[in-house]
Amino acid sequence: MSWTIERHSLKELDLNNEESLFFLGNGYIGVRGNFEEAYGRAVPTVRGTYLNAFHDVIDIPYGEKLFAFPDTQQKMLNVIDSQTIHIYLGKEKEHFSIQEGEVLEYARKLHLDQGKTDRTITWKSPLGKEVEIHFERVVSFVHRELFLIQVTIIPMNFSDVITIVSTVDGEVENHVDPTDPRVGAGHAKLLHVQEADTFEGNTFLKSKTERSELEMACLSYHKGLDGKLVDIEKEADDQRLVYTYEAQADEGQSLAFSKWNIYVDDLRHNGDLRQKALRVKGQLDTMDADQLKEAQEKYLHQFWKHSDVEVQGDDALQEGIRFNLYHLLQSAGRDKFSNISAKGLSGEGYEGHYFWDTEIYMIPVFLMTAPELAKQLLIYRHSILDRARERAKEMGHEKGALFPWRTINGGECSSYFPAGTAQYHISADIAYSYIQYYHVTGDDDFLKDYGAEVLLETARLWTDMGHFRDDGSFAIDNVTGPDEYTCVVNNNYYTNAMAKYNLEWAYLIYEKMKDWKEDESDTIFARLDFQAGEAEHFKQAAEAMYLPYDDKLQINAQDDSFLNKAVWDFENTPKEYYPLLLNYHPLTLYRYQVCKQADTVLAHFLVEDYSDDDTIRQTYDYYEAITTHDSSLSSCVYSMMAAKLGNMEKAYHYFKETARLDLDNTHGNTKDGLHMANMGGTWMAIVFGFAGLRIKEDGLHLSPQLPEQWDSYAFHLHDHGSAIKVQVSREGVELEVVEGDGVELFVMEEKIEIVPGQTRKLEL
Ligand code: BGC
Repeated sequence: MSWTIERHSLKELDLNNEESLFFLGNGYIGVRGNFEEAYGRAVPTVRGTYLNAFHDVIDIPYGEKLFAFPDTQQKMLNVIDSQTIHIYLGKEKEHFSIQEGEVLEYARKLHLDQGKTDRTITWKSPLGKEVEIHFERVVSFVHRELFLIQVTIIPMNFSDVITIVSTVDGEVENHVDPTDPRVGAGHAKLLHVQEADTFEGNTFLKSKTERSELEMACLSYHKGLDGKLVDIEKEADDQRLVYTYEAQADEGQSLAFSKWNIYVDDLRHNGDLRQKALRVKGQLDTMDADQLKEAQEKYLHQFWKHSDVEVQGDDALQEGIRFNLYHLLQSAGRDKFSNISAKGLSGEGYEGHYFWDTEIYMIPVFLMTAPELAKQLLIYRHSILDRARERAKEMGHEKGALFPWRTINGGECSSYFPAGTAQYHISADIAYSYIQYYHVTGDDDFLKDYGAEVLLETARLWTDMGHFRDDGSFAIDNVTGPDEYTCVVNNNYYTNAMAKYNLEWAYLIYEKMKDWKEDESDTIFARLDFQAGEAEHFKQAAEAMYLPYDDKLQINAQDDSFLNKAVWDFENTPKEYYPLLLNYHPLTLYRYQVCKQADTVLAHFLVEDYSDDDTIRQTYDYYEAITTHDSSLSSCVYSMMAAKLGNMEKAYHYFKETARLDLDNTHGNTKDGLHMANMGGTWMAIVFGFAGLRIKEDGLHLSPQLPEQWDSYAFHLHDHGSAIKVQVSREGVELEVVEGDGVELFVMEEKIEIVPGQTRKLEL
């Protein structure tokens, strides 16, 4: 089955989208799939290289600024560009470019099993010189600072000099689009070159941000061009370093070289950045490009061994599934400074901000396939806990932690509070993720080091902001749930249900802490100034949590007022008015029953035990009719819940919406970056949807179904240090241990044990 994504089009729009589709990353570096030789002015492009979490701070302009609106926000920066390599043929110096001459053959590929992209062009110059050029790129998973480009040039019908001009460019800016709220509107130029130096065949460029005072640098050098250097020049006021090489090339013989680019920044590389980069170079000098590519392949082999999902019966969907998983791997931050931004490291949409997308749509994938990565993502949230505590205070709460709706360094970046800060549920989503992690790993040390503190602090937020009403129920007012077409409401079902879960588990963990060694729990209680009465309060609030229910419709109401509003006039809304957010004022949207994305239906997936099956079914039918799925975070939820309700046709329909969303650019904005939450959602729709996975306190639960379009599918799960493979076919379910001592889990509510070396088979 295909491990390669291929493209053969040179159309403008396709190229722009392909910059995102063919981006390469390793959780630290992200490089868009731009052409080394650039396209020329006629084709729009976002030429981008990013370092996860590397950002500057900018003012948020307000017409009317009220209390506790954030003054500033962060923005992920486009950093020094090392992608450019120009090739000139012959003494006439004909510039190789797709916009001149004739492209005889063209193919570009992303190799999901090898972790690289390549591009091969056969080109005829205006003067008739024919050449085959092959570019190959690797952003190393093993050596996180390295971005490597290998180039091979074969003259097909001439022997002559070939000139190679390779640049490292500090004259870079961010992409802006004032017409789209999902893309940055201003502040293009925030990174400035501080040092530009050439020594012993290396170029070194160091840049600094305007306000965050972060520094990053790129050390570049070439291999395979020894003795061919003509010149190294500084251009653009010393912001660009340009190498010129000249090589004699013979007909039919290949001229091959590589460009090694080492990226360092002072978030991760404390001290002198030049020394740090040279140290990395020292390590890399012990290997050649082939060894590096071998290590890359080995890394990916290990990843796929634990993460691959195999589908028999639909190659296009299979391609989409693997593609999505691969890009999740490329975008996941692996240190306490970084997370996964909404567009990963593939583009600048949403300015590199991290949202709840990580906890609800992406961590589940890693938790089940690469738990170490899930742990890192949770550690990031712990690292911004102090900022979340400060934010809670700023927002008028005495206690607790309010995590920012969108952020890089922990500070709230949302200037539009109704669909930003008001989404308090992010704090419960983070807590939920910690609890799920604990269920799957049983990692008590993690709970002691990070989890307990996050759970107690988030639970405090709810007791501080909610209140007991006269009828004894606990209410939470003035929040926004996930559906951004309904803002600032009382008792949003999703928020209340997730807060209830947060409170319940904070209480249970508090009880558990009593069994810890005294100094372990006492240190945490002392640090938090936590009183025993608070835990009791958590329990009472959880038990009394109000979960809105409409007697007439027999569904959970999205909030107190939602069902009183008029239903949006879908029939008379022209197709081109979607997504509605680009065509209607928010207040218009807020006035109607219309959902941008799954809200109550999502709560029914995450905390299914708070409702009965009939309510869940009726609720699904009701909201499905008024949900536009204008957010890419919606279809996967509708797929998972349709599967739960036994409607596999619908489950499959929604699943299909997710699997190739970026590959087919169905939301029309892939050029701004990939939709990472949806990518996680594809995996979730298969594993939580078709296979019915639920992570509960007593273990993993599966209730697999098989879409009739497929012959079989298979996936992997981790549980308490062991990994298993699950295969679902018409014959039934097969489970086997891939690593570890085996697991106990529930399949269709029957508890079974799987031990190494034995395949368990069960009928569907
Ligand atoms: C969605 C949010 C999401 C954000 C970033 C918005 O369009 O409505 O739920 O967090 O995009 O992906």
